[in-house]
Amino acid sequence: MPPGLTAVVLGLVSGRCRTGSGGSRKLNYVADELTSIDLISDVVRATPLALFSDIDGTLSPIVDDPSAARVPDEIIDHLRALAERGAMVALVTGRSLEVARRMVDLPGVAYAAAHGVDLWVDGRSVRPPVVEALGRAASRAIADLRSLEKRAGIAIEDKGFGLSVHYRQADDPNEAHAAVLAAIAASRAAGEFELHEGRMLVELRPKLGMNKGTAVAELVERFGAGAIICLGDDITDIDMFQAARRLGSDARPAVSVAARSDEADPSVLNSADYWVDGVDGIRWLLGEIVRAFPRRRP
Ligand SMILES: [Mg+2]
Repeated sequence: MPPGLTAVVLGLVSGRCRTGSGGSRKLNYVADELTSIDLISDVVRATPLALFSDIDGTLSPIVDDPSAARVPDEIIDHLRALAERGAMVALVTGRSLEVARRMVDLPGVAYAAAHGVDLWVDGRSVRPPVVEALGRAASRAIADLRSLEKRAGIAIEDKGFGLSVHYRQADDPNEAHAAVLAAIAASRAAGEFELHEGRMLVELRPKLGMNKGTAVAELVERFGAGAIICLGDDITDIDMFQAARRLGSDARPAVSVAARSDEADPSVLNSADYWVDGVDGIRWLLGEIVRAFPRRRP
């Protein structure tokens, strides 16, 4: 049983919250706050460790202009340290591969971009032909939706195998949201994709049955992972959290940790084993994992 689930069961049985050092503070979530690395020491000390992380809202603070999002240097340093010590570090993101590799530019890191569709492993692309055809459909959908950008505060992000329409900067986000949905409904090419709602954005994603969870499963197998950590902050990361739970066992401990934010859907916190407070919490956690992670033998 994942440690978070154990905690929940214990909480239900005892009918009270665990508190104090090494314990956890309970908000109205199924997950517990992760206050000490000791709570997940079984995962951190098992090898080979695979660390899967979303980027936006998890490693990089959410900003008004998505193209201005940056991953703090300290977090990059922690990811580099883990990769150098033999952990598999994989960035599992809705961003395009190109943008993801620009945001976290580290050798030896794997990427599952475009929501797990576009994989980059061992320094090369792993992309089936059906995915290439999707790229052409995405270009047609973007052409259909381009006129949305005439409205102030709406921006389309080309993800190669899908797209995001951001409306965070619109004066009236509700009205912008309705306009985005209407434009998508009117586009035949957009109909070839699945519609997903995120934090102030609407996404069109491939209908391939591929998602962040299938990417985690594939990478766990490729890597022969002996332990799994998944980090995320938004609805699309729930697939990743569920994959961690499915793939985890006594022999291969797994844990998922959500970066809490006020604007994320509560289901994100209810799907993870633990939560920490936003990107700052993730930075703390990664530092703790680096400190606790065994160094590779020379
Ligand atoms: Mg995110």
